[in-house]
Formats: sequence, C-alpha cells, structure tokens
Amino acid sequence: MTPDAATGGEAAEGTGGCPHAGGSAGGRTTTLADRRELYRRTPRVVTWEVTRSCPLKCVHCRAEAQLARHPDELTTDEGRRLVEQVAELGPPPPVLVFSGGDPLQRPDLLELIRHARSLDLPAAVIPAPTAQVDRETVRSLKEAGTRRMALSLDGASAGSHDEFRGEPGSWDAALQAAEHARAEGLPIQVNTTVTETTRSELPAIADRVEELDAVAWEVFFLVPVGRGVALEAPSPEAHEEIMAWLYRRQREAPFSVVTVEGPFYRRVASRIEVGEGNGSVVAGSTSDGNGFVFVSHTGEVCPSGFLPVSGGNVRDRSLAEIYRNDELFRDLRDPDGFRGKCGVCEYRKLCGGSRSRAWALTGDPLDSDPFCPHVPAEYRSKVGRGEALPVDEYFEQRRRAGDGPGADGFDLPDA
Ligand code: SF4
Repeated sequence: MTPDAATGGEAAEGTGGCPHAGGSAGGRTTTLADRRELYRRTPRVVTWEVTRSCPLKCVHCRAEAQLARHPDELTTDEGRRLVEQVAELGPPPPVLVFSGGDPLQRPDLLELIRHARSLDLPAAVIPAPTAQVDRETVRSLKEAGTRRMALSLDGASAGSHDEFRGEPGSWDAALQAAEHARAEGLPIQVNTTVTETTRSELPAIADRVEELDAVAWEVFFLVPVGRGVALEAPSPEAHEEIMAWLYRRQREAPFSVVTVEGPFYRRVASRIEVGEGNGSVVAGSTSDGNGFVFVSHTGEVCPSGFLPVSGGNVRDRSLAEIYRNDELFRDLRDPDGFRGKCGVCEYRKLCGGSRSRAWALTGDPLDSDPFCPHVPAEYRSKVGRGEALPVDEYFEQRRRAGDGPGADGFDLPDA
C-alpha cells in the first residue's frame, strides 16, 4: 500500500497492505526530496489494523488472523481518538486505511469511517473477500465516506487463487464484491502477493485488473512474517525480472501500479527510463516508517505491518510523537545509516531496500534487503579492500547472527 487511496496517480511504492494509490501527497509536493522532508512529520498513509478477527485463514496472512476478536482491541472511543490523531498529522491529510483481519468484523466500522470523513481524511477499506461484502455493505461503506475498496486476487483463475489462499470460494467472493463496487460507483484496487507460485500468473492477473476497471494494482513482494514464512519467494534475479515486466506493463495500463515491500522497483524503473534515453523517474516515495505508518489492533505503532517492532502505543503517546520522534522511525528515514550494501548504495535515497524484509531475514531493520540483486560499486570496492564480506557470505553471516522470523526459510542471494 502507498499513496492516496482517493487520488490515484503515479506508480508508487507503499507498504503494509494498504490501498494507497499513487501521486504526491495531496498533490502538494513534487520532488523526492520534498516528499522525504514532508514525511518527517506527515506520513502519506496510515494503516490501522482495526481488528485481527477474520472468518478466513489465508495461507499468506501477515496477521495470522483468527475468528475471535482480541479482547484488548482499541475500543470505539479509542478508535475515534486515533482517527483524530491521524488528522492531526496533516496537513496534508494522510490516507487512512481500515485494514485487518477483516474490518467488517468490527460493528463500529461505519461510525469510524464517518468520523474520518468528518475530519476530511480520505478513507479506504480492505475487507476480507467473503459473502459479507454484499451490495448493501458496499453501499454502506461508500455512503460512510470510503473512497476506495481493496480486493485481493492472487491467481488468474478460481482454481489458482483459491488454492493459493487456501480458501474455496474466495475468488468468487472477490469478483462478486468487485461487481457490487462497480454497481455502487465505489473505486476498487486489486492487491496481489508475489511468490514463486503466483509469479507466472501475474500477466493474466494484470489483464483481470484491467477488466475489472480497477484504479490501481497493488503488488506485494513477499516478506516472510506471519503465515508468510511458509511461502517460497522468487530469487533476487527473478525479482528483478518481475519488476522490469511490471514497470513496462504499468506504462500501458489504465490503472496505476503500487508496489509494497519492493522499493528497488524504483531503481529498476529508473534504469529502464535512463536506458531508453528518457531520463530518470521517481516511481514511488514511501517506505516503512517513512511516509507510511501502521497501527495495530491493540494500538501499537509500527513502521509497517510486516515490521512489527513497536515505537509505542497510542494509548500512551500520540501517533505524531511516535511517528516523528521514535528512534527506530528516525533511523528508518536515514538511509546513510543502513548497513551492508544498502548503506553505501547509490540508490539508497531513492530506494533504501525493504526494511521489513531486512528485519524478517536478519533480525535488524537497518540491514540490507536480501532480495535485491544489485551490488553497488562502492560495496564491491569495500569487498576488494577487504573491508566488507562478499554479499552471499555477508547475508549468511547476518542470517546466522540474526533472529528474524523468516531467516531459516529462504535462500539468500549469490554474490
Ligand atoms: S542495494 Fe539496497 S538500496 Fe540499493 S537498490 Fe538494492 S535494495 Fe535498494
């Protein structure tokens, strides 16, 4: 999830499962430096995991959702106060994404969305694809002030999608929900997770996104957390190929593409444009804790849903104070302090690597992104001078030393 669920726009990089669309924050900034300056005080997107309750048990679920609501979820009053705190982060107003679990499991969801609308916050919702997303529900969401609804498609057919999610009927429910949204005039976006299993279906899924008249396609690159630790990720080289294809596909698409936990999409996009003599391009600007912030069902404030390291709880400190001043958040906005090859990469300000994936695979959110195949010239020089380990040895050492939740299940890149 990246930018403004309501405004649509450019190709972008987002994080944490939210339907932000592309575009500059509120259309008021233009350069990457402007945006990064803005993001020190105002995130572009706030995703609130309103509940972890969900009737589904999707195999890739970050939240490891279960049916029962957590007894310590933020209450309605606490939720209303949180919505006010999101508004106080602006101007410009961040997009507020109501995520889960399944947000429809909260009986006060419409009240919270209406409260967001009363404060001029663009709101988006990511319901679980179930029969509960009927036409009346979609109409209620729209009337409450929802600007966009996100639906997941992780396969190009009912068979592959339902098999991937481990939920028979999920495909039909998603398409039915899309139909209701079309009938009610509520824009949708499609969310897709990239794994070794789903990658071959991406072209057909892109065609389906187009057929559904979705305004955006949000493409998640796997971070091994939650139930996702059991899934196989594409190799670093395959990530590069997928991103190059994705960038070219979005240039001819009527929808915008938003990547999540794939910031080196920006490097790939820039290289393609430069290679074609078109000059560089900025394809997205947010990253974990940098233009994006995640609030858990119990009020913990984290840089991303895939990076569950809390900077504090909104029950104790304001969202603004945590986002702007917490040490981890500040470190995440300083790419010069990253470790390994990301720390010396010529693209570190444009990209910076997935901080969630670094944490998941090494236990250190400031380490390098193991799924990016790029080896910066400066890093090669350091290896030549004996000041750094070759990339494969570096990651193997970091993985052994770290305690990331997904470290054991992944092959690391070759040098
Ligand atoms: S090495 Fe790190 S900063 Fe450089 S392009 Fe790859 S992920 Fe981005």
